[in-house]
Amino acid sequence: MTETKTTRRNLLATAGIAVGSWLGDFALAAAPRPTEAVRLRPPGAVEENRFLSVCTRCALCVEACPPQALSLAGPAGGTAVGTPFFRPRETSCDLCSGYDTLKCIDACPTEALLPLARPRDVRIGTARIDTERCFAWTGVSCRACWHACPFPNEAIVFDLRGRAVVDEEACVGCGLCEHACLTEPTSIVVEAPSRAPAAVTQRATTASSA
Ligand code: SF4
Ligand code: SF4
Ligand code: SF4
Repeated sequence: MTETKTTRRNLLATAGIAVGSWLGDFALAAAPRPTEAVRLRPPGAVEENRFLSVCTRCALCVEACPPQALSLAGPAGGTAVGTPFFRPRETSCDLCSGYDTLKCIDACPTEALLPLARPRDVRIGTARIDTERCFAWTGVSCRACWHACPFPNEAIVFDLRGRAVVDEEACVGCGLCEHACLTEPTSIVVEAPSRAPAAVTQRATTASSA
């Protein structure tokens, strides 16, 4: 990393922490709760209330994302205004395909996005299948989600009747399946998680490697 980038990040981080803290106090007092649209956070995001308080709204993660999957919440986001999120149906997280690390986490200057040991440790959310609409569940052969999934045969498997099933333990919530689904609207949607267990896991990992 160049000195210029480092200096810029430090300045942004310092300024952002102050602004973010002020914004957080103001937002928590005056704004409505985050809307449903702001539901999926970048990989490594800590539990939502903590995320809202430590994310400085610096947008460095948004700038760093290779597929430009992340957006910043607008005024309708309530307490989440200015925070990063993504909508998989529009642009999904490719877990930084071709890179050794997850760029949003690398870029984050605060503890809003915590490092993870491997991409498969990401827990953005969990994909859910609408079995009333999904082709594979309604008699039409389809494996679009399986082809898109970075962990085929782990996160998405097919049962003996050719129906797609998500393994909640293996699904990272990247949304590549939601993006690829051939039905309109999509038959597979990533639902937001409780991120508390991931944060606990991260702290445990950090402690054991220290
Ligand atoms: S892991 Fe990579 S592709 Fe996914 S949101 Fe972060 S920067 Fe974007
Ligand atoms: S998650 Fe991190 S990098 Fe992204 S806007 Fe918040 S503080 Fe900045
Ligand atoms: S099932 Fe969907 S959200 Fe889960 S890992 Fe596979 S592509 Fe990503």
